This record gives sequence, C-alpha cells and structure tokens, in this order.
Amino acid sequence: MIIETNSPKETFALGEKLGQEVRPGQIYTLNGDLGVGKTVLTQGFAKGLGITEAVNSPTFTIVQEYDGGRLPFYHFDVYRICEIEEMEEIGYDDYFFGEGVCLIEWANLIRELIPEGSIAITIEKDLDRGFDFRRITLERTVK
Ligand code: ADP
Ligand code: MG
Repeated sequence: MIIETNSPKETFALGEKLGQEVRPGQIYTLNGDLGVGKTVLTQGFAKGLGITEAVNSPTFTIVQEYDGGRLPFYHFDVYRICEIEEMEEIGYDDYFFGEGVCLIEWANLIRELIPEGSIAITIEKDLDRGFDFRRITLERTVK
C-alpha cells in the first residue's frame, strides 16, 4: 500500500490511524533518511495508542517503553547499533515476541532479526512533488 502525504499533519494522522488499529504483537519497521518524518509518524502512532507522554527518538537507549496506552509500546531506534549482539544484550526477543507493539526506526540495520509478518514502513521524499511531499509505503515482510 502506498500513501502520499503533503504535510507533517497528514503523516501524523496516518501514524495515528495505525496506532488505533494495531493488534498485540505487531511489529512495524520504519525506514527513511534523516528528516523524512519517522518521528512525526511515530508520535502519531503513540497518540493512536492512547499514549499522552511525549515521544521522541530514544537517544541514549535502543528501546524506550511506553505503558500509558491501550497496549505496551516499544519504540526502538537502532541507528547506533554496531553489532547485532547489542540487540541480544537488551533481550530484544522479549519485546519482539511479546504482547506489546514494536516500532523500529532504522530497522534495515538489523534486517536479519526482523520476523516475517512485520509491516515495513518506508518514507521517501520526492522533491519534484514539493518540499513537504512524502511517499509512504507499507508492505508485509516476507522472509
Ligand atoms: P526523522 O525522524 O525521519 O529524522 P522527523 O520526523 O524528526 O524526521 O522530521 C521530519 C521533518 O520534516 C519535520 O520538520 C516535519 O515538519 C517535516 N515535514 C515536512 N513535510 C512532512 C510530511 N509530509 N510528513 C512528515 N514530516 C514532514
Ligand atoms: Mg527521528
């Protein structure tokens, strides 16, 4: 599925809709260049889950947990991961295979760990379509 947005508000709204509909155990991966709107979409997602706490990119930790919503929300940012062992060290499988919901920014860096059935979200710019245009692709991960 491909969705086109033309403002941060629209990208936020897409995230919010996904957060409202997400089921326990679902993993979303989120890829796209710096400044493309990953955090905007994540903030909408958290709102859709009913989380009122402010959500930013986890800067000093790989995963940030939010328990204030309809389901536990685990927000990963694996940008700084150097070796896959770091994921083992934080016990990632408890998050991935639990009853909460995972959203993993920069998931391409840990591609081998991403389970089948995860939903991959890719955000891209296309400057020919304007500065605020974003193409957002959602596809089920098949291994
Ligand atoms: P990332 O987390 O991918 O590095 P951010 O979400 O922090 O990016 O920032 C995205 C920036 O792009 C924000 O400044 C936002 O206002 C801007 N922006 C412009 N148009 C859009 C759009 N259609 N969707 C999302 N963000 C947009
Ligand atoms: Mg970000």
